[in-house]
Amino acid sequence: MTRLLDILDPTLSPTAAEALADRYRGAMLGLAAGNALGIPVEGFPRAFIARLHAGGIREVAAAERERDWDDDLAQAIALAESILEHDACDPEDLAIRFREWRRQSGRGIGYMTTLVLDAHDAGVPVSDAARQVWERADRNAAGNGAVMRCAPVALRWRRDPERLVSETLQSAIVTHHDPRCGWSATAVNIALAGALADRPADLRVLADVLEDAGAPKSVGDAVRACEEASLDALHLDHDNSMGYTLKAMQVGLWALTRQEGLEPILLSIVNAGGDTDTNAAVAGALLGARDGAEAVPDRWLQNIASVPRITELADKLLERSNS
Ligand SMILES: [Mg+2]
Repeated sequence: MTRLLDILDPTLSPTAAEALADRYRGAMLGLAAGNALGIPVEGFPRAFIARLHAGGIREVAAAERERDWDDDLAQAIALAESILEHDACDPEDLAIRFREWRRQSGRGIGYMTTLVLDAHDAGVPVSDAARQVWERADRNAAGNGAVMRCAPVALRWRRDPERLVSETLQSAIVTHHDPRCGWSATAVNIALAGALADRPADLRVLADVLEDAGAPKSVGDAVRACEEASLDALHLDHDNSMGYTLKAMQVGLWALTRQEGLEPILLSIVNAGGDTDTNAAVAGALLGARDGAEAVPDRWLQNIASVPRITELADKLLERSNS
């Protein structure tokens, strides 16, 4: 954990309060924008998107303004609200909130999450449901449903590395038992906390820190692989790895290695195909934390429902992280 402190220590790089507030909003709005941007082409191969949309996807669909939030944003909001109420990631409370969201909308809900919430509904304790579903899937189901929603945990505990790790793992395990899910979310949240503090993650150090803390080697190796990777090399639209938690983590970490702004990077991710809405949600949270809300185009935000509620939660998480 000492090395983790080196990555995150906010005293090493004081960030002005105003810039930090903008970065908090940026993380949540970047997640929302990336999620919404990718929805129309979710699951499509790159070549198909290019044929369908001359010049590629560039805008958030206007229809989003009237629609319920998709799962990535909806679950991140539920997680943020749960954290603000309990000041911890309480799996029981999260399960109740996710079930309530599913009852009201459930838009975009993933397969594993559906099975786990079904088990909760049938009375399986929250501590067992995700594990049982994972065991029935031959212990080899590692979808991106935990990494897509994890950002609020980093926003709450950016100054407390031990809690940042333990609470991120808690936030994952309620629906995703596979260790790759919790640890990929942890990798993203450490990078996010680093971005807030204007300390870009050295991916080799990040990989070592994760493995020292208990992450599977597959997660460390996937982190290291992002350093030199091109977007093409991540093969986002390959059928057999679409929706895989390490893929979503990689595209987020890859995004942070780029010097361009949030808008062109998110567009290149969405137009690369695959699980576009989740890939861009993860990258959007990280880039928003780095570049701030100013970097998220207004014309995108105008087509997203309930933006004031999103920014209010970002502000509250900042306030809580300072207390
Ligand atoms: Mg989605």
